[in-house]
Amino acid sequence: VVRVRYAPSPTGDLHIGGLRTALYNYLFAKVNKGQFLLRIEDTDKTREVPGSIDRIVEMLSWSGLRWEEGPQSEWTKAKGNDGPLGPYIQSQRLQLYKQYIDILLQKREAYHCYCTADRLKQLRIEQGGEKHQATKYDRFCFNLPESEVQQRLQSGEPSVIRMLVPHGVSEWRDLVHGKVVFNNNVLDDQVLIKSDGYPTYHFANIVDDHLMKITHVIRGEEWLSSTPKHLLLYQMLGLKAPVFAHLPLLLNEKGQKLSKRFGDISVQAYKDKGYLPEAMINGLALLGWNPPQLQEAKQTKDKFSNIEVLTMEDLLKMFDLEKVGKSGVKFSMEKLEYFNQMHIRKRFDVEGVSQEERYRKVEQWRALLIEHLPQELHETVKTYDSEKLQKIMTLMSIRIHFFHDMANHQYFFTSPLYDSSIAQKFLSKIKRPQDSKLSILSDLSHSLSTLDHFKSKSISASCNDYLKQQKASQSTSVEQLKSDDVYSLIRFAVTGNPVGAPVGDICEIIGKEGIVERLERAKE
Ligand code: GLU
Repeated sequence: VVRVRYAPSPTGDLHIGGLRTALYNYLFAKVNKGQFLLRIEDTDKTREVPGSIDRIVEMLSWSGLRWEEGPQSEWTKAKGNDGPLGPYIQSQRLQLYKQYIDILLQKREAYHCYCTADRLKQLRIEQGGEKHQATKYDRFCFNLPESEVQQRLQSGEPSVIRMLVPHGVSEWRDLVHGKVVFNNNVLDDQVLIKSDGYPTYHFANIVDDHLMKITHVIRGEEWLSSTPKHLLLYQMLGLKAPVFAHLPLLLNEKGQKLSKRFGDISVQAYKDKGYLPEAMINGLALLGWNPPQLQEAKQTKDKFSNIEVLTMEDLLKMFDLEKVGKSGVKFSMEKLEYFNQMHIRKRFDVEGVSQEERYRKVEQWRALLIEHLPQELHETVKTYDSEKLQKIMTLMSIRIHFFHDMANHQYFFTSPLYDSSIAQKFLSKIKRPQDSKLSILSDLSHSLSTLDHFKSKSISASCNDYLKQQKASQSTSVEQLKSDDVYSLIRFAVTGNPVGAPVGDICEIIGKEGIVERLERAKE
């Protein structure tokens, strides 16, 4: 059975690269009817950011990825425990790492090292290395006489434990990169246990992947050069190594590695900007994975293609790790926004759905409105008629890119405030004398008030009749009244916005009384 894990270090918020890694693991697990685990790698206490475990868990949950085993969360709690192989937080597993390091120490495949930071610094200088160049430890402590090692150990002198990298080559078949070969002579005698007693990432990682029965390690390309060390550790311990897949780097639009400097990379920031989790999942799924089904989409002339709009359900049918490319992939904000727009449509589309499902969608729409509209409208929205709310949902969900765009459409729930500068600019476009504009409003308010069925069709019909009448009776000295003018006038009077959804539909939702009142008020 396939078992994969996402193993973040709590050194900050979940960022989009991390979410992509988690997503690919999740998809791979589900496609293979396997299990997805969450493990927190918190053994570097110097880099830990307080609160980040909770925030990572919260954002993963928000994005809809659920793990079968992992630290306590809503779902694992509901099951009564966090999984049979826990704890899933490394700082709670120190005893286990000790057992494994003892095996290596006994075999002399790991050794204590007492070198001070000063000596290591000196070594770096001697090796001619600049700060960022990898230095290799010279095995000074490996060559100490055994008696001295024992004596220093007993005296409690602080030490680290290093692995003894053997000669030879390390190679593996990576699911993304194919055959990868490293000569072991480029590898340093990696520290496995630090002087504070905590394991380093490398050691805790391989011990846990073994104990948690991980079959496939899917992680970012930045870990590719660590893999030979991990393979050696598995060998030394006589354990079977998992299969590896290293995902391509994410790049900004300029082709540089995606980083904080580029702008927002935390998932939280995208949530705050109004992105739906399904849009994030869709966008991130396509960063690196090139499903053949979408190849033709790339050939169409349109910038973005509908075929690329995928739900989790779609992804679960199509995902294939073998189709993940090697080269870095550009992250495009513009495309993510497109996905957001399309997923708002999908989420609130009621065509062909059951009554219950429709009800659920309307209530979800209501909840989101409350979240994004100002406080003073909350009560109105809470008690707003469901049928009418559904009409608003159907009308507007295909027109907005973000949910907070609905803040520009508060007129459904309250009379608009006319912004006088917008009004002036707008009205000046309608080339008619001022009193004629006013009389249009009066006439329309009158004829609409006589309608029995206040439906978008009859509203439009009534406006059209009015136009015809006017044309017939108009003297040639006044410019012909255009239908655009009439509709624009009503729209502005009703919504305070110069553009938007079809006027008839808006009027139908707001209802006769409200419309007549707004047309009258607009004259002032
Ligand atoms: N803790 C590592 C990270 O934060 C995990 C790397 C791995 O998956 O092995 O990315």
